[in-house]
Amino acid sequence: MNIQNYINGEFVNPIQDNWLVNYNPSIGEIYGQIPNSTQGDVALAVEFAEKAFPKWSQTSLEERSKILLKIADLIEENLENLAKAESVDNGKPISLAKTVDIPRAATNFRFFAHAITQFASESHETVGENAINYTLRQPIGIVGCISPWNLPLYLFTWKIVPAVAAGNCVIAKPSEITPMTAYLLGEICTKAGLPNGVLNIVHGLGNQVGEAIVSHPKIKAISFTGGTKTGAQIAKIAAPMFKKLSLELGGKNPNIIFADCDYEKMLATTVRSSFSNQGQICLCGSRILVEEKIYEKFKKDFIKKVSELKVGNPADESTDIGALVSKEHLEKVKSYIDIAEIENGKILFGGEKVVVDNCENGYYLQPTIIEVVDNQCRLNQEEIFGPIVTLMSFKNDEDGLSLANDTKYGLSATLWTNNLNRTMHFSQQLKVGIVWVNTWMLRDLRTPFGGMKDSGIGREGGFEALRFFTEAKNVCIKSLP
Ligand code: NDP
Repeated sequence: MNIQNYINGEFVNPIQDNWLVNYNPSIGEIYGQIPNSTQGDVALAVEFAEKAFPKWSQTSLEERSKILLKIADLIEENLENLAKAESVDNGKPISLAKTVDIPRAATNFRFFAHAITQFASESHETVGENAINYTLRQPIGIVGCISPWNLPLYLFTWKIVPAVAAGNCVIAKPSEITPMTAYLLGEICTKAGLPNGVLNIVHGLGNQVGEAIVSHPKIKAISFTGGTKTGAQIAKIAAPMFKKLSLELGGKNPNIIFADCDYEKMLATTVRSSFSNQGQICLCGSRILVEEKIYEKFKKDFIKKVSELKVGNPADESTDIGALVSKEHLEKVKSYIDIAEIENGKILFGGEKVVVDNCENGYYLQPTIIEVVDNQCRLNQEEIFGPIVTLMSFKNDEDGLSLANDTKYGLSATLWTNNLNRTMHFSQQLKVGIVWVNTWMLRDLRTPFGGMKDSGIGREGGFEALRFFTEAKNVCIKSLP
């Protein structure tokens, strides 16, 4: 299937008529073409966004909200199709696309449709001066949203919806590797009555069309989710142009397990937090740290549970682990298995490519568990972003906390314990943006989402996202005597 850019409410070919191929990772074959857009396509999208902005920014909140709710309804009506498209494009199990990715995309629309009607600003009575200060939160204008391939529609909508809800016009770029559901969303937006030019989707390469978005002088804010290296490159371009920046980057999240936890619940959740979406979620707990006294038991039970996971065709409802997103990514992830050998990591389970029936050229890898002894090894310091986790033991609270914080990343951490004092101490001391205690990836969209250190700057979610996509303006009025 061939896709086109969505500019000013219409599907158009890229100006230079250049195209890229799109692969189906479950069979390793080309199944479509996508625009290889350039600066000119971004400039065209910006022109239309500029025209749409005055009216959209003055459209009542009720009207904006109504359109966003309609889009949510249409996503739900098209759930089967969208889930199938996501699974084919990305390689993720169809069951995951149906129960997580697509429902969450609809929820993103519904959530911000409501949030914008509740978004308020502060006022301060300046006592003694007969004055009142109030804050206007006005849309920025044209903003850029760039999203990655791991949760394509889920993360794409997580950015564009608050931007549009707040009254901005958007130039968005999904990952070139997984553009399909963003393309399908264009049609839904038009059907729901989103005015032309409010959302423009330009497909193509990150270092070409992505950079064109980041460097366009009329795009005043950039919301980016992706790798830390790319985030640094974007910041380098955007900072001297004084653009507002939100960067959600990589992670190397610790999953800290104490002997006093609810063991069965922890075990089942740890399998999920390790290998959901083939381990390609920025929040996956890729470093499993286990208290010494239950280490051997955990190791045995975890290996058993992981060995029961089914690696298979993503289209099959019973598949637990689908294909990795691309051949290049499979090779990158697999290279860490070779690194394990160099670093004396012990492969406890997995480590091999899997050949799936009727999908012989697909990009499949066994869920892999590697035991390590030194937290400074590359396996524990670098983001692998695939179905590989490491296991390591720790002696006591101090040791566990120090290992957990010992990386350049600071996105999330999971803690398993029933000790309240320990919970409070760790929550306070962990240098991460999100702490889960006795659970994983339980999301409440009102909460701030984002990381510390090399995991990014800024927070998404709830009013934080609406604040990011607005400019705060203070107005001070003094009454005459
Ligand atoms: P990349 O950083 O490679 O790409 C992310 C997006 O940026 C893609 O659309 C990409 O386009 C685009 N891009 C690439 N280079 C540039 C550039 N120079 N200028 C502007 N845009 C560019 O990340 P991946 O797609 O590989 O995604 C995986 C990464 O995303 C992991 O590191 C993961 O941790 C992180 N991530 C973070 C999350 C968070 O919330 N913190 C959530 C999910 C993922 P193209 O695809 O064409 O290269």
